[in-house]
Amino acid sequence: MKVLVINCGSSTLKFQLIDSDDERCLAKGLCERIGMEGAMLTYAPAGGEKEKKETPMPDHTEAIRLVLEILVNPATGVVKSLDEIGAVGHRVVHGGEEFAGSVLIDDRVLNAVKACNDLAPLHNPANLIGIDACRKLMPDTPMAAVFDTAFHQTMPEEAYLYGLPYDYYRRYKIRRYGFHGTSHSYVSAKAAQLLGKPYEDLKIIVCHLGNGASVSAVKDGKCVDTSMGLTPLEGLIMGTRSGDIDPAILEFIAHKENLGLEEVMTVLNKKSGVLGLSDNLSSDFRDLEEGYRKGDENAIRAVRAFCYRVAKYIGAYTAAMNGVDVICFTAGVGENAALVRTLVCGYLGYLGVKLDQEANSKRGEDLVITTPDSATKVMVIPTNEELAIARETVRLLHP
Ligand code: AMP
Repeated sequence: MKVLVINCGSSTLKFQLIDSDDERCLAKGLCERIGMEGAMLTYAPAGGEKEKKETPMPDHTEAIRLVLEILVNPATGVVKSLDEIGAVGHRVVHGGEEFAGSVLIDDRVLNAVKACNDLAPLHNPANLIGIDACRKLMPDTPMAAVFDTAFHQTMPEEAYLYGLPYDYYRRYKIRRYGFHGTSHSYVSAKAAQLLGKPYEDLKIIVCHLGNGASVSAVKDGKCVDTSMGLTPLEGLIMGTRSGDIDPAILEFIAHKENLGLEEVMTVLNKKSGVLGLSDNLSSDFRDLEEGYRKGDENAIRAVRAFCYRVAKYIGAYTAAMNGVDVICFTAGVGENAALVRTLVCGYLGYLGVKLDQEANSKRGEDLVITTPDSATKVMVIPTNEELAIARETVRLLHP
């Protein structure tokens, strides 16, 4: 079956058409600046020329119409008609406590997703707009919602509750939810498969290090803790997000800089992380790695703090699971930045981690990057959230 995977942001739409029979990506692309001047469609059919064109997209419905049109275009398309698309899988950021797994979309589901908008005001409304637009244009095609939060719903109470008045949890559902769940689930299951061991018998730590970054602890095939919280701001130091800080710092900054709460939140979300720590050198690890190697003190400071925080979470999750069998690195930084993996593993002597420098310098494939006598294995596993969404969609349709 051919599955269209849609990931809708407020002004962007990423898509991939995947043949679930052989799990090949047939085409992928991106709509940018939806609803703005200079909207842009990028389209790349497998094995064909990538094309990029400026074309008006007043709203998401128009963006999806253009995507469907280009997929069936006789010259560059990859399907003859839209009837060939058997299902659509939508990434939805927040499923709250309502969704502990993916679901087929109907009106009840849409209302329940809407009820989670409060928890993810930047993301969920955009995801819903994408679903609405697709349902308008493909009314007879089954659709699934795959939630970023769902995989983490197995966390025990002691891991997901904050030390706040319990009434806030009761009334407002303030708790740890965690994000990147589709990636944590895909990578941890893949690690077990690559090691040839039952998923249910392993203690796995997944470090999803991208522009947004999170760590999760997966014990016996279930997530038991993760570093992002009510929102994606908690946990690791990220590209531009602060991660964990003393909450009293908010009031302190507001007072010193004469800022309102919203402005302080913008500082924490957009001006902090490795960007802020590097004194605005860059949020991109390609620049930071280069700076680090050249001895730039701003880059060195940011990279060291980033890696230290990752190592600290690995230690915490090793304790939470009473041990760890395998540590996995994934996403843009985790898959590509050998320096980051080296520095993080440098803290893991107590786990008997011995890095294989040659394996660690490779890229783009599933790899064990520790030596055969390393007491704990470390792996690099490229994530593939789109494929995971397509698999979930097919599983729901053909249980
Ligand atoms: P993601 O959010 O998973 O798409 O990751 C994006 C981030 O990955 C970028 O902002 C970079 O910091 C990082 N990245 C991508 N390619 C490389 C690379 N070749 N070397 C180091 N970092 C990279």
